[in-house]
Amino acid sequence: MSESDIERWIDGRIAFPIVVSGPSGVGKTTLVGRLLARDPRCIRSVSVTTREKRPDEAEGASYFFVSEERFLQMRQGGELAESAIYRERWYGTPKSFLTERIAEGKCVVLNIEVLGGAQVRASDPGALLIFVLPPSWEELRRRLTSRGTDTAEAIEGRIRRGHEEIRSIGDYDYVVINDDLDACVADLAAIVRGERRRRARLDGRS
Ligand code: 5GP
Repeated sequence: MSESDIERWIDGRIAFPIVVSGPSGVGKTTLVGRLLARDPRCIRSVSVTTREKRPDEAEGASYFFVSEERFLQMRQGGELAESAIYRERWYGTPKSFLTERIAEGKCVVLNIEVLGGAQVRASDPGALLIFVLPPSWEELRRRLTSRGTDTAEAIEGRIRRGHEEIRSIGDYDYVVINDDLDACVADLAAIVRGERRRRARLDGRS
């Protein structure tokens, strides 16, 4: 067996949810996109939400956009692996996609806020939790402003929520700082790779 065959064999057996959280505007969506481009064994979960679609978003790619009635139906019917309210809108992770992809040997990457992260960890202690920090709050405010999608009030709301979310950092396994994007992606990829190797060792223990 060549080395790459061994790697493929190991990586195909080790699959776990990867939760990526952090303040809004920190760059989670870009980071996750770059991680997926580098790591064919990672796949992104597409959440369900009751918030309105932004002009640059596509149904089923960014989110599944549903009514509150439909969301609550899914939640009550046990179709969501986790759910939370963020700025008065519901967000949740479809359970079947998550469990099916994990069973296929894929790491499913969830870009979700901290309440959802805690629910994922509670139902699967093997989940990997990574928290993304901005280099500073000023830089975060600058990024949110230059995104141009929010009012000044909404930006302050996101920053306030970001401060609250950081209080949960102790529940996360790793912290990365999104100052330089390439360096941050490299850190993320190294963490995922390291976890696969560590878990291969632990799983192989008799
Ligand atoms: P946005 O509305 O800016 O796309 O997302 C707002 C927040 O909701 C972000 O922190 C994002 O990570 C989080 N989020 C997106 N999808 C989910 C989900 O399925 N569950 C939870 N708990 N949070 C989510």
